[in-house]
Amino acid sequence: MFRLFSSGVDDLVLVSNPSNGEVTSQIGARFDRELIYTNIGEVLIAVNPYKSLPITGPEFIKMYQNASGSDASPHIYALAERAYRRMVDENESQCVIISGESGAGKTVSAKLILQYVTSVSPNNSSGGSGGGGGNGGGIPQYDGGSDDRPAPPMGRGMGMPGMVGRGGLPTRGAPSRGGGPPTRGRGGPPPPIPQNRAAPPQPVSSGGGPPPVARGPVAPPPTRGGAPPRGGGPPTRGGRGGGPPQPVPSRGGYGGGGSSRSVDVEHIKKVILDSNPLMEAIGNAKTVRNDNSSRFGKYLEIQFDDNNAPVGGLISTFLLEKTRVTFQQKNERNFHIFYQLLGGLDQTTRSEWGLTQATDFYYLAQSKCTTVEDVDDARDFQEVKSAMETVGISREEQTEIFRILAAILHVGNIRFQGEAPASVIDETPLQWAASLLGCDPQFLGQSLNHRQIQSGSARHTQYQVPQNPDQSAGLRDALAKTLYERIFDFIVTRINKAMSYSGNCKVIGVLDIYGFEVFERNSFEQFCINYVNERLQQIFIDLTVRGEQREYHEEGMKWKDISFFDNKIVVDLIDGNKPPGIMRVLDDVCKTVHAVDSAAADIKFMEKLIHSIQSHPHLVISNTGSSADEFTIKHYAGDVSYSTEEFCFKNNDNLYASIVGCLQNSTYQFIVSLFPENIQDNKQAPTTSSFKIRQSSSYLVTRLSACTPHYIRCIKPNDKKQPMNFVSSRVEHQVKYLGLLENIKVKRSGYAYRQLKDVFLNRFGKIMDVQPRNVQEFVEYITRTHKDINADEFEEGKTKVFVKNPETIFVMEDLLMQ
Ligand code: ATP
Ligand code: MG
Repeated sequence: MFRLFSSGVDDLVLVSNPSNGEVTSQIGARFDRELIYTNIGEVLIAVNPYKSLPITGPEFIKMYQNASGSDASPHIYALAERAYRRMVDENESQCVIISGESGAGKTVSAKLILQYVTSVSPNNSSGGSGGGGGNGGGIPQYDGGSDDRPAPPMGRGMGMPGMVGRGGLPTRGAPSRGGGPPTRGRGGPPPPIPQNRAAPPQPVSSGGGPPPVARGPVAPPPTRGGAPPRGGGPPTRGGRGGGPPQPVPSRGGYGGGGSSRSVDVEHIKKVILDSNPLMEAIGNAKTVRNDNSSRFGKYLEIQFDDNNAPVGGLISTFLLEKTRVTFQQKNERNFHIFYQLLGGLDQTTRSEWGLTQATDFYYLAQSKCTTVEDVDDARDFQEVKSAMETVGISREEQTEIFRILAAILHVGNIRFQGEAPASVIDETPLQWAASLLGCDPQFLGQSLNHRQIQSGSARHTQYQVPQNPDQSAGLRDALAKTLYERIFDFIVTRINKAMSYSGNCKVIGVLDIYGFEVFERNSFEQFCINYVNERLQQIFIDLTVRGEQREYHEEGMKWKDISFFDNKIVVDLIDGNKPPGIMRVLDDVCKTVHAVDSAAADIKFMEKLIHSIQSHPHLVISNTGSSADEFTIKHYAGDVSYSTEEFCFKNNDNLYASIVGCLQNSTYQFIVSLFPENIQDNKQAPTTSSFKIRQSSSYLVTRLSACTPHYIRCIKPNDKKQPMNFVSSRVEHQVKYLGLLENIKVKRSGYAYRQLKDVFLNRFGKIMDVQPRNVQEFVEYITRTHKDINADEFEEGKTKVFVKNPETIFVMEDLLMQ
């Protein structure tokens, strides 16, 4: 039977001499007993067991429902219950922030939270009594594996057992586009180009330097008349992540202020749960660290009405790793959706689109890994299609999406040779790609071997710069990445549309985002991820400390100053304006140095960095010579050295005008609708990746700051995905980088222990012969009989007792045992 204070503490705040090693061994001792969850106050630590434990599922949900948070053993459902209950009781928005390295269990945790919340909330949007029914206050007493109840599946796309939905709602609008290319096997000549295509562009002269061309559209004007864009308009471009620019919520609810209206709550629940496999199909991939690794950050807000029923939702995504579309390292895969498409598409369409097997496509074949153990891509494809129906992506739109994905695969097979402008080695993939994209192959070819640049003070003059084979390959990859990104955004927008709600609401937000990353070689991606984590740490400190202080205030206690390391200095070093931070320096270099030569730009960046911010306590540049290509940031979680190679290229994230022009001329209206921008608008300043990341993290911080936070810190116990194998050195590393000691310190700098007076007296009153009537009687007794316990160890608030040092609790615990 589980005890609240067993020898391996279930709350690390009670560890007497906390150090990274001690914290690790405490977590390890619990893990050995299959206790994967441990608390630090209200922060939950979750160690990935890599095996299905019988601790989740409907029966456990029932047990945690309505259980008093302070009584429940550490568990993800206890945390979910706390969040939901607090939202209900205090009418305040909540958020759950999940962090941890790749494979630590963030996405599984996020799904368990969603499973819990959708399960315990009512199924009707108004008039209900709230809550899905209590369980009579049963408190979970999981004691490490003695329970042999069946475990729920832990696989991908975890659904809600027994959930009844109303099925998909396909919006059948325009009839399916006919005239698809005729069926042909791969390798044969590509199908004829559909009619009604745009005229090919004028040939561009190739010799010598860049010939000036007349200002004006290089491509023929898009054929925009006729059918409106399918699928409810173009996706909202929130930037890598910024998510749709939403009004900032005020604490305790936001929305249009409408009165509650009837919503099909069961359908919303189904959308929330079904959107998981869909998002995972387009955003997850097999990596060497995790077979189902999320290659984007996700913040899902579930909106609740006055009846505390989920009536809507909003997903914001961050930092999609779109380079994966064109490149994966050995033994990794591209995004799941490509393999699902190849495995699950019917034979006729496969032939029509020239699809064969994964190994025939460079974008899938290069990493020498096309399958994942225990994953059935064909089966998953059916699940994805059904999820698309649920979120209202019609059959016709699905076809449009899948055709673009097929086109991307053919794009990847286009090869170049010769001098600038490079020529295509084999026309076949180009023709397939053009056909599937509804473009003229000649036009497409030309937008790949010429780059359009603008110059002059007002960027009035446009040039067509011939590209050599390497540069053309770069444009080809940019085309593939851009297409993929637009599909990704389209799907996210449509999921949001399916969950949109405009009435008054409060939210529970769930943030599943990459944790702090330190590899042997760290690049721009790690720089961005670690920056977001710095900002998350800032709100962690802000909210935790604020939360502590709020509790003291509510309990009518003296205000206590809590000291902690404020990482604002590191955030300013990265994103500051005055003095300029690293991102600002990078943006300046990207603006002034033409990114034709990316290596030269990186050198310039390093020079400027050394020049502008060399003497900063959190920045170390050990090599300040001409070969300097590395800088180190002293992050809150540790030092990380970044290699500056490709920093400028990756920061520029150019959208190439010629490629966009080509796609805007597609005969497929769907593709045209994915590219709503005006590429001729010279005034639009090109935005950089770092700009977008600053913007989207500010958006995130604003959203999270409006909520009461709950934290889950996930830990990966070993690198081999082995069940129940705890490698201490690996865990200690994460304990350090997750800043768990910092957590404990912030907690301990206040009170190590707090408890409702009744609960406290019921438990520790047993030390006395006669049950004490109040806290004061207890304190008098314990300080009289135990000289090493001082009265100022205890402080009484309105409803709770606070105890300063964990040692005092240990002594009292020992007395109880006697
Ligand atoms: P990434 O950052 O790569 O997306 P992640 O932190 O989201 O990683 P998950 O995908 O949630 O990691 O977990 C990786 C795998 O570990 C899961 O597919 C599952 O097999 C296993 N796993 C994680 N958490 C649990 C759990 N609580 N119980 C059982 N297995 C788990
Ligand atoms: Mg994940």
